[in-house]
Order: sequence, then structure tokens, then C-alpha cells
Amino acid sequence: CNMERDHRRDFPLLMNTDVAYLDSAATAQRPRCVLDAEEKFYTTCNANPLRGLYPLSIAATEAYENAREAVRKFLNAASAKEIVFTRNTSESLNLVAYSYGLSNVKAGDEVVVSIMEHHSDLLPWQMVCRQTGAKLRFIECEPDGSVDLNKVEPLIGSRTKVVAMTQVSNVLGRENPIRQVAELAHRAGAVMVVDGAQSTPHMPVDVQALGADFLAFSGHKVYGPMGIGVLYGRKELLEKMPPFLTGGEMIESVTREGAVYAELPHKFEAGTVNAAGAAGLHAALDYMAQVGFGTMQRRELELTRRAMEGMKQIPYVHILGSDQPEDHHGIITFTVDGVHPHDIGQILAADGVNIRAGHHCAQPLLAYLGHPSTARASIAFYNTEGEIDRLLASVSTLRERMGYGK
Ligand code: PMP
Repeated sequence: CNMERDHRRDFPLLMNTDVAYLDSAATAQRPRCVLDAEEKFYTTCNANPLRGLYPLSIAATEAYENAREAVRKFLNAASAKEIVFTRNTSESLNLVAYSYGLSNVKAGDEVVVSIMEHHSDLLPWQMVCRQTGAKLRFIECEPDGSVDLNKVEPLIGSRTKVVAMTQVSNVLGRENPIRQVAELAHRAGAVMVVDGAQSTPHMPVDVQALGADFLAFSGHKVYGPMGIGVLYGRKELLEKMPPFLTGGEMIESVTREGAVYAELPHKFEAGTVNAAGAAGLHAALDYMAQVGFGTMQRRELELTRRAMEGMKQIPYVHILGSDQPEDHHGIITFTVDGVHPHDIGQILAADGVNIRAGHHCAQPLLAYLGHPSTARASIAFYNTEGEIDRLLASVSTLRERMGYGK
């Protein structure tokens, strides 16, 4: 991708539409180079990777393994064996729960999650606790979305086997103190599972510096394709874990009675893999490196500040979480007095402003904060001041259009 110009031009859909796309936390738009990389895979090296010794299959395998190496660098993992390709964050977290969780958590143990977890990082742990007889405990947050470590410390003890926490909340946008929580987990002998779905699009994520034992993210939120996700896992842990899915491509040898599993990471990649998706993800990570987190963060902060300042001028609008734009990572979840979030979403859609409305797959957090549902605008570096102004203009007319008068 040529980066000598306006980044928005790199995104074909944004160029082809006049809607204001403010739902990038749900899924980001993809730059042309990602679409090209997928097409290039199918037009130049499409063959089943890892199968067959002919040149096309070798090229397909190379494209796939190069993508793995790019992800390793992106996360600063020690080895490419620690990078498992999955479909998305949800599958990655299920892999950890079914494989690590069910083999290591026993009755009487405890699993600690935060109240901010996306259902993808909550339901798998509910399953583990149900099946093993372990207890699920919750780290709660303050009304501004911050986490008080003094309240976390007593929750993590000798019974704790797993601590699972999102690095950035998909509702509040706030970054959690993962490194400090990981230290508490490790001191207790527990593993630290990090949901990186909302952090990887916005900040450098270093699994070693964070002390993450596992970290999951989705390609489609980091400007890559849908259907490709990542699980990072510390090698010593992955080596001891049983496979999550079994079948083709993940074995060394099979007899009538049993099988010897393949080496890492292939043990966790049963069946034909999404090599074109991996190639697209590789292009997306290269693209992010070219733009740079510095540029992305500066732009997202400017736009978030503009949106939050504008919303603060509208008396019936309430933003969840911190009142500091720096704490939001482009995520602004809000309510409007007397207007149901689904009406907000529909009225905004009629004005060409695309946002999210509902429970954002984080129902326990919304219940804890006292809102059955909310609206969420989420900003990426490719958005414009004009789009933010359209959001504000539309939000400022909401009550009037719902019949409340001026
Ligand atoms: N965790 C968080 C924090 C998320 O925001 C999301 C996506 N909304 C997920 C997990 C699930 O991601 P996916 O749907 O790609 O599995």
C-alpha cells in the first residue's frame, strides 16, 4: 500500500460509500492491500498447504508460515510455534478453555474473570466451572471503568488456576492493568489469559512484557480478513495441552487405536487451514506497521476527543466510563435519556451514521453498570471529523425526533 497520502483512500469500501462507518470495534474495514493479498494467494499459490510436495503447495505453505512469523513479530512472541491460527478470538478462547481449562482446573479450584469480559471470554470459563466444579469469581471495575488492584489482590489466591481478562473493554474502551494482574496470577501459580480483541487494533501488544500465558485476537478487527484469528500460547503450556479439535493435518501418525499428534503449532490446527486469510492478515499487520501506532493513536484520540466534547454539550447524552478521551481507545458507549438504544441505532442509520446498539456481548457488565443496553460509536484512524460531526448532528436531534419536543 502506498502510504504517502490520506490513509482513508486505502479503504475501498470507505471510498464507495457515503455512510459514516463508526462500528470499527465490531469489525474494521480492510485496506486494498489486504484484499490484494487474499486474491494473490488464490491466483498464484492456491493449493492445500501442508499437503503435497509440489511447488504450488510449497508456496501456499510458505505464505501461511510467513504469516505466522509476522504474527509472532506483531506480538513479540518468543517462537512461531507459539502462534496458533484459529477462526477468531472466540475460537481461540474456547481452545484455551476446552484444552487447558478442562485438563488443569479441578473441583474446588477457582477461575477469576473480570466483569468486563466479552461473552467470548466468559462463557468458555462458565463451561469449565460447570464441568469441573470450580468456582467462577469476578473482578469488578469502578464506575469510570478503572480496576482497583487492591480489590483484585484478595480474589487471586492458591485456589486460582486461571485469570482471564480483556486488555481493552469493548464497552468502556479502557485499558486494563494486565501486567499487574498477570503478576498476581503468576504469584498464585495461575495462568493469565488475555483477550486482545480490542487492544491489538490500537496499541503495540507484547505478550512477554505483559506476562500473558495466552492471548487471543481476531484478524477482522486489525484490518485483516474475517475467519482468521490467533491464539498465542506459551510453548511450555501448549506442549502439554491436548488438542482442541482432531482430524487431518494435526497428526504425526495414526493407528487403529490411537494417534501421535503433530508438533506445535500444527497440533492445534486440525483440517485445511485458512491460508488465504492468514496471507490477508499478514498484509494487514504490514499495513498497520506502515501507518504506525503513533499515527493511528493520534488520529483516534483527536476524533474521540471531538466526539466526546460534542456529546458533553448535549445534556441528555451520557457516556459510560471515563470522561477522558485518552481512556477510550476510540470506543464511546452512550445512552440518551428516554430513547431506547435500538431507536438511537435506527435513527442514526437513517442519517447514514452506522453505530452499534444493544448489549455488545457484555451483558454482565451492562447489568453491573445498570443499563440493559446502550449505543456504541467506535472510531478508527480512517474516520474523519466530518463523520464525527454527522454523528453529533444526528444525536442532537434524537429526543426531538422521538417526540419529546425541543
Ligand atoms: N472479545 C472482545 C473484547 C471483543 O470485542 C470481541 C468482538 N466483539 C470478541 C472478543 C469476539 O471476537 P470474534 O467475534 O472475532 O470472535
